[in-house]
Amino acid sequence: MSDSPSIFTKIIAREIPADIVFESDSVIAFRDIAPQAPVHLLVVPKTEQFANVAQLAAGNPELLAELVSVAQQLADEHTNSEFRLIFNTGESAGQTVFHVHAHVLGGHLEEGTLGH
Ligand code: 5GP
Repeated sequence: MSDSPSIFTKIIAREIPADIVFESDSVIAFRDIAPQAPVHLLVVPKTEQFANVAQLAAGNPELLAELVSVAQQLADEHTNSEFRLIFNTGESAGQTVFHVHAHVLGGHLEEGTLGH
């Protein structure tokens, strides 16, 4: 089930607060409210048209490339330029917000781990 407007659309509209670290015409990034790593940012297209990364890749590959580029820029600014990029896709994979977003994790992550 997808909620519309999504929680991220409400953040974009400043209807709910967030620690915003980047914003362009098409993309916003902010700190995750429940960080799973020393650096844990969410990079989100402003459109909520795409529920997940597969839809985004099929529908607007340039916007997906922009998300990756913003992720690198944020890793340059917030950690040592190295990062893990996660797109949870589907409920059983841990997706809870069906407005596509990339998790950018950084800062001394354990080798050989991807979560549980
Ligand atoms: P998902 O589980 O869909 O891959 O990721 C959703 C993420 O959004 C979670 O890591 C969760 O902590 C984060 N999140 C949910 N609600 C809010 C909120 O209101 N503000 C912020 N900054 N992050 C949120």
